[in-house]
Amino acid sequence: MGLIAELTHRCPLQCAYCSNPLALDDRKAELTTDEWRRVLGEAAALGILQVHFSGGEPMARRDLVEMVAHASSLGLYTNIITSGVLLTDEAMAALLAAGIDHIQLSFQDAAAPAADRFSGYRGGHAKKLDAARRICEAGLPLTANFVVHKQNAERVGEMIALGEALGAERIEIAHTQYYGWALLNRNALLPTFAQLEHVNGVVAAARQRLNGRITIDYVVPDYYAARPKACMGGWGNRFINISPSGKALPCHAAETLPGFQFPTVRDVSLAEIWVDSDAFSRFRGVDWMPELCRACDRKEIDWGGCRCQALALAGDAAATDPACAHSPDHHLMGAAVTAADGAPLDLVPRRLRTLSA
Ligand code: SF4
Ligand code: SF4
Repeated sequence: MGLIAELTHRCPLQCAYCSNPLALDDRKAELTTDEWRRVLGEAAALGILQVHFSGGEPMARRDLVEMVAHASSLGLYTNIITSGVLLTDEAMAALLAAGIDHIQLSFQDAAAPAADRFSGYRGGHAKKLDAARRICEAGLPLTANFVVHKQNAERVGEMIALGEALGAERIEIAHTQYYGWALLNRNALLPTFAQLEHVNGVVAAARQRLNGRITIDYVVPDYYAARPKACMGGWGNRFINISPSGKALPCHAAETLPGFQFPTVRDVSLAEIWVDSDAFSRFRGVDWMPELCRACDRKEIDWGGCRCQALALAGDAAATDPACAHSPDHHLMGAAVTAADGAPLDLVPRRLRTLSA
């Protein structure tokens, strides 16, 4: 269904909940414009419907407009997932002329200075407000995305009010997903149960109030769940994620999994990767599952959950996701919640460098 084109890991922001890997791809390793054009052509030929230009900050690539135009000419639905701080009047006009279909704009909080403090980018929140205005004035549908965690959960009502005031058609309230930098900062980000209940209540009330006007997507935290999420709609089931240096991944965090040789689009076609590669086949479907999942009537609903989370918490990528209450590792979720409760709020900001830890 979708190609997630991670054009670059470069980003002017430093969000401590970023799900990019700790070892970020260097600019010199990034796919060239011509390589991306070829990949987009292969995606269209494969029957892929949507391309999501992502990162890092996709607008840090000077050739983004050219890529949007090329994807659009191939009949692909084009979406940009952006922080918005580089979306000037000129950039907006160029993207419109290139045929952009949708822009998802991320916010770090409901207002500055908390938002700017978290992103490490002074003046960033004001730029995002300008970007939202430009998107709406251009007549494009706006999705406003807010990532929720321990340090901003109390302000979720103000976040929804901001999305409403900006004219968003869709507001995404997403609890942090603990991969990459977010996993590193988990103790300082994981909300308490009381905070989770607060967010649940505010979202439920807003959904009722805004019903028929604004769609509110709500992504709950796995750490309080009884059942896992269907990560990426199932491994190798709906999406192909291409890293900035061209690695084809079933999900953006999959590079953490040991024992894989992820193919690169520099060497192998998308069609071969999708159909034949071990990387996309190994956890596809239900045959790979542990007996617990294979015997379960939810196996084709959540596909056994997230492989990267199974590895990160249980140490085994082929295990049932510990987010599942049936998992023998489910207690690890509770232990993480206990460890985060009252932990220091210090954060490691995401930076374009490799951490050794
Ligand atoms: S989460 Fe923040 S740091 Fe990471 S890519 Fe998005 S805007 Fe940049
Ligand atoms: S046992 Fe497996 S398939 Fe069943 S709910 Fe848990 S993770 Fe999903």
